[in-house]
Amino acid sequence: MQNLAHRLERLGTETAFSVAQAAAAWKAQGNTVFPFHLGDINIPTAPNIIEAMNRAIADGHTGYCPGPGIPQLREALAEDIGSRRGITFGPDNVVVMTGGKPVITKFLQAVMNPGEEVLYPNPGFPIYESQIEYLGGTAVPYRYVPTESGFAIDLDQIRASITPNTTAIIYNDLQNPISAESTAAEREAVAKLAIEHDLWVLSDEAYFETRYEGVSSSIAALPGMAERTVILYTFSKKFAMTGSRLGCAVAPLQIAQVLSKLNTNDESCTTHYVQWAGIEALRGPQDSVQSMLDVLKGRRDAACELVNAIPGFQVAVPQSTFYLFPDVTEAMERLGHSAVGDFATAALHNTGMSFCTREHFGRRLAGEDRQYIRLAYSGIETADIRLGLGRLR
Ligand code: PLP
Repeated sequence: MQNLAHRLERLGTETAFSVAQAAAAWKAQGNTVFPFHLGDINIPTAPNIIEAMNRAIADGHTGYCPGPGIPQLREALAEDIGSRRGITFGPDNVVVMTGGKPVITKFLQAVMNPGEEVLYPNPGFPIYESQIEYLGGTAVPYRYVPTESGFAIDLDQIRASITPNTTAIIYNDLQNPISAESTAAEREAVAKLAIEHDLWVLSDEAYFETRYEGVSSSIAALPGMAERTVILYTFSKKFAMTGSRLGCAVAPLQIAQVLSKLNTNDESCTTHYVQWAGIEALRGPQDSVQSMLDVLKGRRDAACELVNAIPGFQVAVPQSTFYLFPDVTEAMERLGHSAVGDFATAALHNTGMSFCTREHFGRRLAGEDRQYIRLAYSGIETADIRLGLGRLR
């Protein structure tokens, strides 16, 4: 038999999907499952957005369209993303893609040569590590340290990890899986390092508007940053459109042109009629965004209270995203689980609780001694949050 490509040995994946598969198999055997594993949303896309998508199909927007996206959507995105961040973008800065995920791969394809180093958050969205390594780079992790109100980026570690071979830093504020949010000082410090060492920055802003208090800020808005930053934007979380696959990169022109060329190579274009739904999402009524946040906030409050009532579990109340990342070290010690994965399997089989662990978010780092699980509350009703966490307790 012929061999497969060697580079596949370096390809990781989003292992949350394998947790989802295990949960589905358990459910298919007639068991109750409480799905806390995936950052998917069980709230439907707003009717005006669905209507716009249907109308676009009926109007015949079913053929190819320009590689970087239809001009009307690029314009709406430049306006919306720019005005919310205090940056001026033109439509030429916007490259529409099939969700936020492809922005990660294409950013790396555009800026990273094989053998170069890219800094990425760990624990973090697992595709960073996977794609850096798959494309021949070296994935250099940076961590977060626990604080009283959550987690803070380890700036000293970032500083110490930069070498002449470092090309880029991936920065995810507001963060999956730990729901960390940078302070203005942290953002400024990261920007300063990027400028000092002439690094590209991928600012993953998938959760920019998934927040319950305050207003988000983008690192791209800091002086000297717009010209070295690519923003990852997605409709997935803000508009409950995870399956529609719509997002974009907002990039300096030089990079936008490359991303557009990569789009043409890979997909020709993003699904044409979905792009018309994107215009409606941005320009139509916004009340569904707020009502979804209200629902998520209620779930967050219920989940936090119950998690903190479990002996040996501890979590600070996050102000953004829809994830809890409780420290479960003491509970693991008491229950005699040396690997948190064993606990997750036991939890599924004994209580129906399905969730990811720290291990699903990048390789465990040297010196790490705490155990964490991730609970996504975006796909489960409050009543089931109470039931599931009650059983887990
Ligand atoms: N970035 C982060 C931090 C995410 O959590 C996700 C999805 O969960 C993505 C990017 C990808 O989003 P999309 O579903 O739009 O591809």
